Amino acid sequence: MSSKTSMVHLALDLGGTRIKLGLLHAGQLLISQSLPANSHQGLRPNLERIESAVDQMIQKIVFDSFADSVSVSGVSMAIPGVVDSEQEEVKSINDKYVDVREMNLPAWVQRAWDAPLILENDARMAGFGEWQLGAGQKVRNMVMVTLGTGIGTCAIVDGHMLRGSHHVAGNLGGHLPLERHGPPCNCLANGCGERLASTWSLPEWVPTLPGFSTSALAQIKSLDYKAIFNAANQGDGLAQDVVSQSLDIWSHVLFQLISAYDPEIIVLGGGISQAAENLAEQLHQRLPKTLWIDPQKVRIVPAYHPSSAALFGGHWLLSQGR
Ligand SMILES: [Zn+2]
Repeated sequence: MSSKTSMVHLALDLGGTRIKLGLLHAGQLLISQSLPANSHQGLRPNLERIESAVDQMIQKIVFDSFADSVSVSGVSMAIPGVVDSEQEEVKSINDKYVDVREMNLPAWVQRAWDAPLILENDARMAGFGEWQLGAGQKVRNMVMVTLGTGIGTCAIVDGHMLRGSHHVAGNLGGHLPLERHGPPCNCLANGCGERLASTWSLPEWVPTLPGFSTSALAQIKSLDYKAIFNAANQGDGLAQDVVSQSLDIWSHVLFQLISAYDPEIIVLGGGISQAAENLAEQLHQRLPKTLWIDPQKVRIVPAYHPSSAALFGGHWLLSQGR
């Protein structure tokens, strides 16, 4: 039986619908779980549940590993907003967890676990995870695209994670307009990739398509891509059209990102990437032929950690003393 305390990192990923929590050590995700977020009500109502969930995870590790105790030596938090990671400050956040700008997050973490906190934008945190501990290891130029509730992106160029003057460099790949007069997005621009094909936007456009009422999709209470891929595989014509349109939109998003950042590799993560078969190959085939760079020179690959990249990213940053 071990007599020493095991040190672990606690990584939190504040998603729109779920909060993911993981305990990591030496490059391994020891245990993880997720809680419903109710993110429109803010983070504050979730704090107690997060603390007790972490307590339970720690107890399970102690029990399973016969450790005397497990102690949290650092905490990372991936935030769906604009984050100044040097000042550990949330600069802006839209719609979800709006209370985090007024909260003293380091004080909460200090009180709960007596540990330091690092903050980072969620897409960038996922990018660090795949770059350092996933599909992008040993690569100097990488784009990560997280296809889920929205579309998150980040870019690593010449071995550096891009941040920019206002902390958004690389992050707005889902909000580059593809249709200048297209439908309005939640970012107030028109025709963004995220507005045209992401989980949150499905109810905005799919029910308006001709033939929706007789499609299998009309029977689904909350539309998501998993249901749409299933219906398409079972021969539903409208679902097949939605899949085809979405693949086109995503391949154009990749076209913009390849044109902007000239990556060697694009890593695809997020719930949609897990639900789709051969998504990387399908997007590669659909890359617009007008791409300046030979598409064969850009690899598109699935994430190693499609749903937990941000947990690995937090673990890596903490292990660097950030
Ligand atoms: Zn937008």
